[in-house]
Amino acid sequence: VSTTVGILGGGQLARMLALAGAPLGLRFLVMDSVADACAAQFAPLLQADYRDRAALAEFARRVDVATFDFENVPAESAEWLAQRVAVFPGPRALAVAQDRLAEKTLFQQLGIGTPRFSAVESRPDLERALAEIGAPAILKTRRLGYDGKGQFRLRTESDADAAWSALGAQASSVGLILEGFVDFTRELSVVAVRGRDGEFRAWPLTRNWHAEGILSASLAPVEVSPALAEAALSAAARVAGALDYVGVFALELFDTPHGLLANEMAPRVHNSGHWTIEGAQCSQFENHLRAVLGLPLGSTAAVGHACMLNWVGALPERAPVLSEAGGHWHDYGKSPREGRKVGHATFVQADREALAAQLDRLGAALGRAGQTAGVAAAIRGLSAG
Ligand code: AMP
Repeated sequence: VSTTVGILGGGQLARMLALAGAPLGLRFLVMDSVADACAAQFAPLLQADYRDRAALAEFARRVDVATFDFENVPAESAEWLAQRVAVFPGPRALAVAQDRLAEKTLFQQLGIGTPRFSAVESRPDLERALAEIGAPAILKTRRLGYDGKGQFRLRTESDADAAWSALGAQASSVGLILEGFVDFTRELSVVAVRGRDGEFRAWPLTRNWHAEGILSASLAPVEVSPALAEAALSAAARVAGALDYVGVFALELFDTPHGLLANEMAPRVHNSGHWTIEGAQCSQFENHLRAVLGLPLGSTAAVGHACMLNWVGALPERAPVLSEAGGHWHDYGKSPREGRKVGHATFVQADREALAAQLDRLGAALGRAGQTAGVAAAIRGLSAG
């Protein structure tokens, strides 16, 4: 008898989970509120609202274990489901990761550095928080924000009015948090997996570049000092342990001259781990499935130097990517739309300098030097250092 994995959310993450699960003989059922969810091109779809109890009951009946592609599934729905079928990660981990205030509070309790932060409940409260934290700062919605949405950057304290008109209305619905603006030297992420038995493994650290709040490129493994790697891994392990987490998650970090600061955790497979499909012994997608099913975890070792380029809004031409040795094309089967992640490409090379040269070629061929130049420069910086 085959095992059916239920996935709440039917986007590209669910799609790549289903693709990774095929060799393991797994079947999938995807639940999503929209009919054209791109994972439904590879797995049966149960189209319903995440709050629809009848649909959740049917979902629970049809699957052996449930997991998420979408972290903003209502926590009550996850809890209701967990009473009927095994759900990994568990509802508490999901609830903490859904709330920027709860997750930063947890980081603090675990001794993990964070940007300065303060909950904001009203317009006078914003004034108080700004006085406490200082400008520049970022006002963010506590819940339901992603890819830079639900954020307002305050350059000076006089931006408080503008910030409040942009986000104040959401103070009572999703809550707000003010964070000190971090002048980071680079953004890193730890993508890690924790098994049902508590075994913890992490892929090599990834360096990430964002454009307009959306991930643009990732490079892995990134070379860091042993102390920095240890600090990052230990922070991820502590968070996972504290939440009794099962499955893959990402911890996003800012590297600063004063050490690492944790920005947020994503309770799911993560865009900054897409390079692991071709760049690691076992991908984040396969390891997530292994973890939620209680199977032995696969090796998280890198198999070369990998760079992932995100395709946001629309796909570029694919021939230049396909023509490259070690070039891998991922089209999510979504229609183009501004700010939407529609695909990515990963390039894996045994040699770091070859990867930099490949990025130069691609940047020119695709007219995307802006996306590749920073990564190529970072690789050459590593080689030089
Ligand atoms: P987030 O939605 O919190 O992951 O934010 C998206 C991106 O905005 C991050 O990856 C950073 O590039 C930037 N960002 C978010 N919070 C801060 C902060 N406190 N200081 C500086 N940059 C930030």
